[in-house]
Amino acid sequence: MVSFDMKKERTLSILKPDAVRRSITGAINKKFEDAGLSVVAQKMVHISREQAERFYAVHRERPFFRELCDYISSGPVVVQVLEGENAVAKNRDAMGATDPQKAAEGTIRKEFGISISENTVHGSDAHDTAAAEIAFFFSGCEIY
Ligand code: ATP
Ligand code: MG
Repeated sequence: MVSFDMKKERTLSILKPDAVRRSITGAINKKFEDAGLSVVAQKMVHISREQAERFYAVHRERPFFRELCDYISSGPVVVQVLEGENAVAKNRDAMGATDPQKAAEGTIRKEFGISISENTVHGSDAHDTAAAEIAFFFSGCEIY
């Protein structure tokens, strides 16, 4: 029988180029799993400059937009779907503040972040943006 737990939520996570380059994707996944998040889809992709601009369109007017798009398309990343109760909030708690210098002890960005640009992970910021971001990278049959 196929069952589906309605309480579970999904969110889109990206392990950014600095994470892949330093071979810390396993350590980061361990943090997510310890926080009660399951990886239900995962693949390595090299985001093109054009895809980066579409993915980050909401930040188009921000002064760091160009740097952000250059960075996320600078090398391979791991895109993944995380699932669990309150997955969006749980993932953002596990990531920590955008600026690694301001991130709380024990968070991924505190432990692994290099700078506000090379901050190791991306996570969707709300339930509706999570759905849109998951659809940007994954088709239904790619998600467990
Ligand atoms: P993310 O969306 O990556 O999960 P976030 O929600 O904490 O992170 P946003 O405000 O959505 O942060 O910014 C998106 C990304 O843009 C950040 O992860 C960071 O890499 C980059 N960024 C944000 N602020 C700055 C800044 N002042 N200078 C350079 N890069 C920045
Ligand atoms: Mg954000």
